[in-house]
This record gives sequence, structure tokens and C-alpha cells, in this order.
Amino acid sequence: MLDRLQDTPPDALLALIKQFAADEREDKIDLGVGVYRTDDGATPVFAAVKAAERRLLDEQDSKSYLGPEGDSGFVHALMPIVFGSDATMGGRIDGLQTPGGTGAVRLAIAIAQKAGVTRVHVGTPSWPNHIPIITDVGLEAPTFSHAKADGSADADALLQIIRAGREGDAVLIHACCHNPTGIDYSPEQWDEIAEALSTSPVLPIIDIAYQGLGEGLEEDAAGLRKVLARVPYALVAYSCDKNFGLYRDRVGAFYAKVAEPAQLGAALSNAAALARANWSMPPDHGGAVVRIALRDEEMRQTWLDELTGMRERLRWVRSYLAKADGKVDGVPLGHLEDQNGLFAMLPLNKDQIAKLRDDHAVYMAGSGRINIAGLTKGNIDKFVAALADVSA
Ligand code: PMP
Repeated sequence: MLDRLQDTPPDALLALIKQFAADEREDKIDLGVGVYRTDDGATPVFAAVKAAERRLLDEQDSKSYLGPEGDSGFVHALMPIVFGSDATMGGRIDGLQTPGGTGAVRLAIAIAQKAGVTRVHVGTPSWPNHIPIITDVGLEAPTFSHAKADGSADADALLQIIRAGREGDAVLIHACCHNPTGIDYSPEQWDEIAEALSTSPVLPIIDIAYQGLGEGLEEDAAGLRKVLARVPYALVAYSCDKNFGLYRDRVGAFYAKVAEPAQLGAALSNAAALARANWSMPPDHGGAVVRIALRDEEMRQTWLDELTGMRERLRWVRSYLAKADGKVDGVPLGHLEDQNGLFAMLPLNKDQIAKLRDDHAVYMAGSGRINIAGLTKGNIDKFVAALADVSA
């Protein structure tokens, strides 16, 4: 029976991690793995998270089941951060905890299917797990272009999908810090997107996995909020794994926005039933930690300061690279400064990417995606020189 299974290709990025670990050159640079790094190259546990974990250890008096909704205190503590001061929009938004942003995306797609969606449009390139999740749930995943060659977001392509859409269509939109391009819609483009969605049958599914790593917590949620203010229905997939540094603890939330408060119960009970069939209930630890950190004034401030520090460091790397524009033939760097988050795509071919690895110990995804946070004061000049060498 199991002999019918064929090998699936190993995840290219995981293979890269192994190759990087085996490389003995001391000045090697890892731009592959998608985690934040400090200027020392570390991915430490946030101080706010450590403090919340200590309190959790002291105060938790049971590990009994919570249910498929997970930690409702966590889900609700996050809502003003995501949706703003009128966080429930008059009782029209609520959600549940999920295993990471991945679980939230999975749940959003599954509930869209249950509500009658048959295809989910995806702007490409996108996070490599989006299309597999959509097709695994059993929906079609037609694609459109996310970005133009000049490094700006291709809002026209998205607007066309929204305007030509029919009942049964959904569209997956990154709220901020687009993975893998770093190219986000401008505030004016978000206005147009929200306007187009307000008269379209297309269901928006908004994936927000990097809030606070782009321009600011408020700024990074502004486009999402514009859309939610205009549409009757929307689904939101949230990840705390980057902005709280909780990656392996798998912390996420799924939210539904409905037209009338009376519709919320059905949306959430269906989501809970799907969650139960998929993973029964989410892992508790990380959600409890975020709840504690957000409810305690001092921990919350510590978190905000840590997040600001991360964002400012990413902006520093971006502006440093932008200043090197012109030093590298055929690889424009100036626009990196206008882009957001952990990632950027460099127009490098396979040979150049292999040469960077073999000759300079610079590791990046085969697509040309780099993790901005892999660059530090100590290695960024070497990186620019390596780029110049392979592009010469
Ligand atoms: N959406 C996007 C756009 C992502 O980049 C990621 C993670 N890399 C996720 C969702 C999933 O995040 P998590 O690790 O919380 O499952």
C-alpha cells in the first residue's frame, strides 16, 4: 500500500540550512532561513517573552484541555493591535487561536471552502506554502502578478482580479512585509483595493505574519483595516511567530469579519469544528505567553521596545544596501529602502547564486530571496563585495 507513495522533493530551504551548517568557512553568511537576527547574528528569546514565561510558570495551575478555540484571552488581547481601537467593529469580528500563522491560513482556506469558495487567487511570488495549502484543501489557486519589474506592487493585477471576480472567488492578500519580495501596496493602492473589494463578490483573505517589522504596528495594519472597514466579509490569518520571536511555539490566530453580529456565531462555530478536525486544539504555551505580555503594562512596553529595535535594524540594513546602489552591476539596490520586512528578492541567476555560495560562503534561497536580517555591521560590506564580484 505505502509502496504507492513517490518521493517528494526535499524542502530546498531545509537542504540549504544543512549545507550552511556543514560549511566550515568562518565568515559564512546565512541569508536563507526566514528568522530575525540581531546584529550579532542571534535569534534570541524576547525579554518580554522570558518575563511572561516566568509568570506563566508561577501562575499556571492546570494543563487541562482548553478546547479548539485555544486561549480566548490571547485571541482578544491581540485584537486591538490588529484591528485598532474599535477592535470588534461592533461585534462583527472574532476569532480563535491556531497553531501558528500556518494554521490560521489553513483554517481561513478551509472555512472559505465551507462557505462556497472554489478558487483562491494568489499574487505570485508568494510564501511557498500558500498554494500547497489551498490545493491541499481542494481549491484551485489561480495566480496573478504581485510586483512589477521596477520593484513596485502591481496593484492593477490585483484590482483586475477583484473587479472580474465572481461568487466563489477569494483572494489572498499579504497585509505587510510581503514574503518573499518585501514589496507592499502603498496607502493609495490599499484605498483602491478596499474600494474595489467593497463592490465585489470576491472574499478577501488577509495574511498578516510580520506586523511591526515593516513601518510600525499601526502602519503595517493600515491596509488590512481599510479593507475590513469596507467589506461585509473577510478572513484574517495572523502570526505572532515573528513579532514575538516565538517561531517554534507556533502562535497564531484566525479571525472572521461578518456583515451582521448575528452571523458571527456560525462563522466561529464552523471554524472551531474545522480546527477540531484538523488539530483538535492549538498548543497553549506561546498564546498564553503573548496574553500575559500584552496584559502587563511593563512587559507590553518591553515588547514594543524590542519590536521597534528589530524594525529599526531592518531599516538600517535596507538603507545601507540602498546606499550601495550602483556598486553592483545589474542588481539595483536603491528600491530596497522602500520595501518592508525580512525579505527581498535580488535578480540573480542560478549560476550567480551558486557562485555566491561556493566562492563567498553567502547562502540564499535559489529564488534570489534574501533574509535582510542575515546582514550585520560585520558582514554587510563583504556581502556587497560578493554581489559585485558575481555580477561583474
Ligand atoms: N504567512 C506568511 C506570509 C509567512 O511568511 C509565514 C511564515 N514564514 C506564515 C504565514 C506562517 O507563519 P508561522 O510560522 O506562524 O506558521
